[in-house]
Amino acid sequence: MAEIIDGKAVAAEIKQKIKERAERFLALRGRRVGLAVVKVGEDPASAVYVRNKIKACEQCGIASSAFYFDADIEQSKLIELIHTLNADANIDGILVQLPLPKHMDERAVLAEISPEKDADGFHAVNAGRLFLGEKTRFVACTPRGIMELIRSTGTEIAGKRAVVIGRSNIVGKPIAMLLLAADATVTVCHSKTKDLKEITKTADILVAAVGKPKLVTADMVKRGAVVIDVGMNRADGTLCGDVDFDGVSKVAGHITPVPGGVGPMTIAMLLQNTVDGAFDE
Ligand code: NAD
Repeated sequence: MAEIIDGKAVAAEIKQKIKERAERFLALRGRRVGLAVVKVGEDPASAVYVRNKIKACEQCGIASSAFYFDADIEQSKLIELIHTLNADANIDGILVQLPLPKHMDERAVLAEISPEKDADGFHAVNAGRLFLGEKTRFVACTPRGIMELIRSTGTEIAGKRAVVIGRSNIVGKPIAMLLLAADATVTVCHSKTKDLKEITKTADILVAAVGKPKLVTADMVKRGAVVIDVGMNRADGTLCGDVDFDGVSKVAGHITPVPGGVGPMTIAMLLQNTVDGAFDE
């Protein structure tokens, strides 16, 4: 049976260190680390995420400022706020909760966030630095958290075969870049990939970021592999991942549960990015 990777426990340890760093920042600079959280519209999942992010800030001694807009707000108004926050010396990180309403151009909005305050790491400058293998203080939170989870297993990443299922800008592509930077041999699979199983079966490290319940079954997994399930699929009021946990946990060496795996790490890494940003300014 696979060892379960306890994302909650790893995140709690990291949050404790973040809290200590936030206290040190306050003592040194005479103000708290500040995160601005912007939400547009009433998407129920976004409301939960934003609430959890604000709660986590409170736990770690980070000052959060929340800005909520109705779904029909003009894009120019949102950009105006972002410019104000960019110029605000008390704000170290800015987070615009996605998805934005349909009438907005998400990329255009995210491009307005200063790359120096890009807590989510989605700005082209920070994504580009990651692609170039340059040091960047802002790395997309979910991928950054996945790397921590893999490291928490004690697995040596260098030289391993890593397979990522999914090629989104927020998970698939950045986690592929981070694994490559850690010297894994990386394959990225997606909706047009043929013979998915033949590829996933070669993986020492398998990351599933698709959004399809139980897409990854036991016959697709190499014995002893580290399996990271990013999927968050809501069905019949319950949350389930992209991995068939019951079957795959009989084959894998380590596996993340859903919930309690990647999710708690995403928030911890948002706070880590913000505190890193504050110290680095
Ligand atoms: P996305 O919809 O942007 O991308 C999904 C990817 O899966 C695409 O690249 C697509 O090519 C690929 N894909 C679709 N069907 C496939 C198939 N049959 N075989 C192989 N590849 C296939 O999704 P995303 O934003 O990357 O999110 C993926 C999942 O991760 C979702 O369930 C999302 O809710 C979850 N997620 C969780 C967290 C977290 O903190 N736990 C963070 C971000 C996303």
